[in-house]
Amino acid sequence: MIIHLKESINAQRINELTQELKAFHIKYLGKDVLITGSSLKSLPSTIENDVDQFWAMDSDIQLASKTYQSEKRSVQMGNITIGGSTNNTVLIGGPCSVESEEQIRSSAELIQSLGLSVLRGGCYKPRTSPYSFQGMGLEGLKLLAKMREDYGLAVITEARDATHIDEIIEHTDIIQVGAKAMYDQGILRACAKTQKPVLIKRGFGTTLQEFVQASEFVLSGGNPNVVLCERGIRTFETKTRFTLDLCGVAWLQEYTNLPIVLDPSHAMGYAYGVAPLAKACTAMGIDGLLIEAHPNPKVAKSDASQQLNYEEFTTLKRDLQIVANAVGYNIV
Ligand code: PEP
Ligand code: MN
Repeated sequence: MIIHLKESINAQRINELTQELKAFHIKYLGKDVLITGSSLKSLPSTIENDVDQFWAMDSDIQLASKTYQSEKRSVQMGNITIGGSTNNTVLIGGPCSVESEEQIRSSAELIQSLGLSVLRGGCYKPRTSPYSFQGMGLEGLKLLAKMREDYGLAVITEARDATHIDEIIEHTDIIQVGAKAMYDQGILRACAKTQKPVLIKRGFGTTLQEFVQASEFVLSGGNPNVVLCERGIRTFETKTRFTLDLCGVAWLQEYTNLPIVLDPSHAMGYAYGVAPLAKACTAMGIDGLLIEAHPNPKVAKSDASQQLNYEEFTTLKRDLQIVANAVGYNIV
């Protein structure tokens, strides 16, 4: 249950209420908002006089639910707004991994030359094998930050675990919580303590309920700037890397108030499918796309098979603009 208290309620009374509702795992969100587990279905009569408005919820999808807030949240990513009533489809592009200054600079130039605003690049890579490239770490992060300064772009990179989350918060504009990291409570709790935007990717085997609940950790901890990213789930199919769950996206659009980004690169796993999938996603009227591009995909140190070259990325951006316009959106 989400409870908005009357403005007149003082700190002492809030303390008392917190004690009274302790069994329901209460959280105090500031601005006089209390949240309990959704198992609390009716307002206790003892607190009726303290309450301005309340929402009894079906499940622990609460702050992210349209039942509580029907308007889509808007989140500032550098100069650009995602979500809200903007009708922006924010195209986030760049390589899977930051590999060198020359490489990430070429990506920054591409993104800037196409009039886009957000550059991606992984620095702490959560690889499946310990024997593959693990990312440039802090050195890569500093290169990304330099691209922000040199090109005026917002930069996004992923946290692999909680040991370097403070560095990521310091050096980037948007924190990416990857598919493997979205259950990491250390990362989620650290993301709740900043006001920087957080893009949470869906785990391979994560239900929509669990996915949105991950966002509740960040929202209920005090950071309202959360964006969800569908990047494919694991199914019985092995011809493609993952299966992009567009049904899930329709569900998220219907029931949650969070901006939704789609990542066809990781879902497909092969460059040939990325452009058609990106067009299909755009036709759904989505808030953003995350697409990997590399100056020479064949020699990429991670995700080589799925990255577009710059010519393919440029053509795709042009084509997406046409699809976006047809559904009242704009690629930015
Ligand atoms: C990535 O964005 O490069 C990445 C590793 O994504 P995911 O967490 O979706 O696998
Ligand atoms: Mn990747």
